[in-house]
Amino acid sequence: MPIITDIKTILTAPENVNLIIVKVETDQKGLYGLGCATFAYRELAVKSMIENYLKPLLLNRNVHKIEDLWHLMHNNGYWRNGGITNNAISGIDMALWDIKGKIAGLPVYELLGGKSREGIPFYQHVNGKSLSDIVSKVEALKKQNVKHIRIQWGLYGGISKNLNIPPNSEPGVYLSPTQYILDTINMFKHVREQCGDEIELIHDIHERLMPSETIYLAKQLEKYRLFYLEDPFPLEQGDWLEKLKAQSATPIAAGELFSNPSEWTSLIKNRYIDFIRVHISQIGGFTPARKLAIFAEQFNVRTAWHGPNDVSPVGHAANVHLSLNSHNFGILEWCGFSDIMYEIFPGMPYVKDGYIYTNDKPGFGIDINEELAKKYPIKTKVTKWTQTRLPDGTLVNP
Ligand code: MG
Repeated sequence: MPIITDIKTILTAPENVNLIIVKVETDQKGLYGLGCATFAYRELAVKSMIENYLKPLLLNRNVHKIEDLWHLMHNNGYWRNGGITNNAISGIDMALWDIKGKIAGLPVYELLGGKSREGIPFYQHVNGKSLSDIVSKVEALKKQNVKHIRIQWGLYGGISKNLNIPPNSEPGVYLSPTQYILDTINMFKHVREQCGDEIELIHDIHERLMPSETIYLAKQLEKYRLFYLEDPFPLEQGDWLEKLKAQSATPIAAGELFSNPSEWTSLIKNRYIDFIRVHISQIGGFTPARKLAIFAEQFNVRTAWHGPNDVSPVGHAANVHLSLNSHNFGILEWCGFSDIMYEIFPGMPYVKDGYIYTNDKPGFGIDINEELAKKYPIKTKVTKWTQTRLPDGTLVNP
């Protein structure tokens, strides 16, 4: 049986997002696997977790025992389910699935039971500065056969106008919830009028509102038939979903900040959400994500894995392989990548005429050009976009 001989971290930022790729090497010549451990805003902590703690734990162990190794990594630090640890575990876990596929000579989706569909439907983002800007961007995506589109006027929390901020307030991103709610309702009305009823629309609240504000917005948006409304409440406030579901028919997606099964179990079994959309590396990788998808299937909750550009191409490949297999797949988030990413990560998933596809190579079918990746070093800096404040200066969830 092949054994683990080395575990390396590759940190690269070709699109100015800090990506963490893990490479697990074996004693068989040319046999290695790649995984995603991307926690874009705490990258050095994840790197340290892998190199100083998980690598010594796993060296010389059998690459085939993914399930056992996952639990070994999960329990070894005694305290568990934290974001740094989970991302570190994910990088190794995905790499082991990649290796298993390569040994079997099969794509990972075949190891899971094969394809449930040939192409993956996805949604793309439209962030507009004005209503006409939003409409023209939606129309451009429609021409590319994109059927699902997330629309935001401004980015999360909208665009601030004429805010009365007290003197000596702390620096940050200042936004008005009331302005955001009114603008968002207006945006949906305008987009439905201008772009038609058939396009599937998504919107992300990004935890920005108070619970009653969110319920009001979800009810107001019912008539615009959303595909889903995303992250209506902070993850710590999941109990509010029961109240929202009792009052609004707008479908709900949640979960990109989840890291602990206790955060999703009751939401799924009580059908308080329609879509589960965790960041797969944040929950510990492919092994727990596969279990989560199967659990959600029992309750007719569909998957919508988190997929912006702070998921690496290796992470996207994992998202695609799981989505090809899961019967209860719903949608994938896709932001598109520049040409340089396809050079650094040969074999990464691609879009063609409204669907995402992947190749049929063994494992996740993706590789990395390490020399090219080195030309785009990461930058470790203080994160600013998460410093979000109300007009009076109160810090709120980003
Ligand atoms: Mg989101």
